[in-house]
Amino acid sequence: KVSIFWFRRDLRLHDNAGLYHALKSGYPVVPLFIFDKIILDDLSANDPRLTFIYQEIESIQSQLQELGADIMVEYGKPEEIWERLAATLDIAEAYTNSDYEPYAIERDTKVGKILESSGATLKAYKDQVIFEKKEVMTGQNTVYTVYTPYSRAWKEKLNDFYLSSYPNKKYFGNFLHWKSSSIPSLKSMGFEKSDLEFPSRQTPDEKVEHYAENRDFPAKDATSRLGLHLRFGTISIRKLAREAQQLSPTYLNELIWREFYQQVLWNFPHVGRGKSFKPAFDHIRWSYDQELFKKWCDGQTGYPMVDAGMRQLNAIGFMHNRLRMLTASFLSKHLLIDWRLGEAYFAEKLLDYDMAANNGGWQWSVGSGNDAAPYFRIFSPDAQQKRFDPNMEYIKRWVPEFGTSAYPEPIVDHKEARDRCLAAYKRALDTD
Ligand code: FAD
Repeated sequence: KVSIFWFRRDLRLHDNAGLYHALKSGYPVVPLFIFDKIILDDLSANDPRLTFIYQEIESIQSQLQELGADIMVEYGKPEEIWERLAATLDIAEAYTNSDYEPYAIERDTKVGKILESSGATLKAYKDQVIFEKKEVMTGQNTVYTVYTPYSRAWKEKLNDFYLSSYPNKKYFGNFLHWKSSSIPSLKSMGFEKSDLEFPSRQTPDEKVEHYAENRDFPAKDATSRLGLHLRFGTISIRKLAREAQQLSPTYLNELIWREFYQQVLWNFPHVGRGKSFKPAFDHIRWSYDQELFKKWCDGQTGYPMVDAGMRQLNAIGFMHNRLRMLTASFLSKHLLIDWRLGEAYFAEKLLDYDMAANNGGWQWSVGSGNDAAPYFRIFSPDAQQKRFDPNMEYIKRWVPEFGTSAYPEPIVDHKEARDRCLAAYKRALDTD
């Protein structure tokens, strides 16, 4: 009999909750990773995240091989793969870490049933957050829908127990000793290798120490860039939260925003299915103008701050938070284009794309979400530039032709767009 540990968004051997429990199960552990065809079929061939995942799986494999162990890497539909594994292996138990997205919940329920019919279970552990699901609740035992009181309760509940790392290394002797067949190549799954440079997984202590003063200025490049590593679990949230406690309360607050949106997605899964958190916002009559949408995507709106953000995204798969807020607001409020198109565009381009944070960020910007900016507060791209890029360093980096005749005229007038937005929002919200 063996225990199987299924890696998903937790690509590390150290301080990994589900893997820790698998290693303590009393059965030799076979690690498994599935390149999920259902997810991969929707991605473009040059999606750099596949290269990132691939390199992390190879690194895990070489660490395991040094221990005389190995990893089973499959490509296909998870249900079919689990059916085959359940029929061919003598599985005592299967272990994994919880994933709070609607698709993942459905998939794990199905896999759990497959395992049950062969006498095993799929045990899922909390790993990617400090607090999950309904762990942080109001005094009336309801789910928080507003960030500030949530963060207060989060901090009150926190103690060393929740932050301590799992000592996986002590149990590394419990992996099954075996040799796996090779990993399916990226090419065989329809993907090209990307040569994009991925951000480091080391916590940039200097940046985090000065995070509060500098984080809002995109030209300073003063944020941690750890989003990608948090998304794929190539760093541990427990270790990062301990560092944040030491280095910067403001930085810890951002990690709490991440958990806030994770618990929103879990408790209000309709937000992950294209619905507004506040249903009244689904009455807005959005535009689907392809030409304007393309100009937004390409960073050709004639608003240099908006264009700089979009061009940064297109070039390196990252956009500074200030610009995520501004570009999202510009698409939904200035252009009145359905924010779900923008949400999907970010999902395709961001290396750190995460459904909960992306959806939360978009709904915040549109005004339809939890604790959102009031809808009548509409960012002025020029005022944002004056405040957050006063020397135009960020703009010059990404929009070098700004100020020349090669740069486009604004595609909408700020004041007209503002009035049109207020009228459209008012009409929709009044009908509710
Ligand atoms: P830092 O500023 O160094 O923060 C550290 C970490 O805290 C981040 O990596 C992230 O995990 C978390 N964090 C910070 N701010 C937020 C926030 N507002 N909400 C949730 N988590 C936060 N974040 C994503 O991780 N994935 C997304 O797909 C995503 N989409 C967004 C879309 C929009 C429209 C907006 C307004 C925000 C979005 N964010 C998203 C939140 C935020 O912009 C990014 O987390 C941040 O810019 C990533 O850069 P960093 O790693 O340098 O973050």
